[in-house]
Amino acid sequence: MIGIAILGSTGSIGESTLDVVARHPDRYRLVAIGANRNVTKLAEQISRYHPAYAALADETAAVELRRLLGTATNGSSATRTRILAGPDALTEIAALSEVDAVMAAIVGGAGLRSSLAAARAGKRLLLANKESLVMAGPLFMEAVRAGGATLLPIDSEHNAIFQCMPHNIRVGTTPSGVRRVLLTASGGPFRDWTREAIAAATPEQAVAHPNWVMGRKISVDSATLMNKGLELIEACLLFGLPPQQIEVVLHPQSIVHSAVEYLDGSVLAQLGSPDMRTPIAHALAWPDRIASGVEFLDLVRTARLDFRAPDPDKFRCLALAQAAARAGGLAPAVLNAANEVAVQAFLDRQLNFLEIATVIETVVARSGGGGVGSLEDVLAADAESRQRARERIFGSRASSYSAGAPQQVRQ
Ligand code: NDP
Repeated sequence: MIGIAILGSTGSIGESTLDVVARHPDRYRLVAIGANRNVTKLAEQISRYHPAYAALADETAAVELRRLLGTATNGSSATRTRILAGPDALTEIAALSEVDAVMAAIVGGAGLRSSLAAARAGKRLLLANKESLVMAGPLFMEAVRAGGATLLPIDSEHNAIFQCMPHNIRVGTTPSGVRRVLLTASGGPFRDWTREAIAAATPEQAVAHPNWVMGRKISVDSATLMNKGLELIEACLLFGLPPQQIEVVLHPQSIVHSAVEYLDGSVLAQLGSPDMRTPIAHALAWPDRIASGVEFLDLVRTARLDFRAPDPDKFRCLALAQAAARAGGLAPAVLNAANEVAVQAFLDRQLNFLEIATVIETVVARSGGGGVGSLEDVLAADAESRQRARERIFGSRASSYSAGAPQQVRQ
């Protein structure tokens, strides 16, 4: 039995992971789940799946969770699940000895600390939380190597690339014979909108992705194409490739999840229905294959697969991310922090859609750059960039606004 921990279990990836794991009770045992403050959903998951541990980052929410579960003052409870709470709770469950595989599915920089803990503890690390890799890339890959972790990508594109790479690929090293990677993008809900229409887009329109059902932050990132930019940075790190060897291709149907072109002219692509349970099942079972519950692909019904280049004038975030990938060092961390603040402000109706790119551009232009020497460097660049983004958006009201900063990380 393989022990599983799901960090971010109340989110879109977390719920898909629970679904796949529950299909294979002979193979997987759910050891731990964790989230931030969604007490109602976590309580439901505890009652349904009976994990040994459940963690909430928010301590106040954990008090409510204990009340909901009927934990008495003497510690006895209707459930045998142990409740952990506070900033260290998710890190703790990521490193439990009973846990073999960790699904890192917390959204944003808030996932950095627990993803790193799983890497250092040498787990099979199913990485959905791309932001932690973008922020601390070289340190993260070093933690994977030093901890002896097995890093498997969950992003459908990187999982597809992984499946199309030579079978002996070692994540983080450049595979031989590869000419380039074709990173596909649906183009999001505004793919065919005019710039004028996009300027007036609402949060509801931005999160209504045409092909995928996802959390709010990644849905907005998909609409700006920042998601593709973050994925480009992620692909460089995972597959040891420079940014110029990764081409972004718009593919509205989201059937071809990405492709690898080899020196001999072969192009290997991975296809499937747009459902995250496929990459989740792949990474859970690799190198085996297990059922995931997805609808099988019917190519005759699909009929068309279209491809075209993205429009850089409409989607400036992609170019900003490509520049950060080329610059390296702390540039991706700066980009990521500014993006998280700008996206949250857009979702809170404090910023219009096109201003997301403007805020990021301003913060990146003011950043001092520098290399990723230590985790403190990353956290300092992250905090400074969040503050600059808030100042750019809110002016003197900036100090009263916060958006998902990673908690202080202990080395
Ligand atoms: P959701 O918004 O649906 O879920 C986010 C999860 O993170 C929730 O469980 C939430 O808990 C938890 N969380 C948020 N903030 C904190 C915090 N400070 N501390 C601890 N937990 C926290 O996100 P998604 O599932 O869509 O995305 C998760 C990650 O996976 C992202 O990095 C995204 O880029 C990546 N990804 C997602 C895909 C998708 O299809 N959804 C596809 C590919 C990658 P709570 O509910 O309590 O707030």
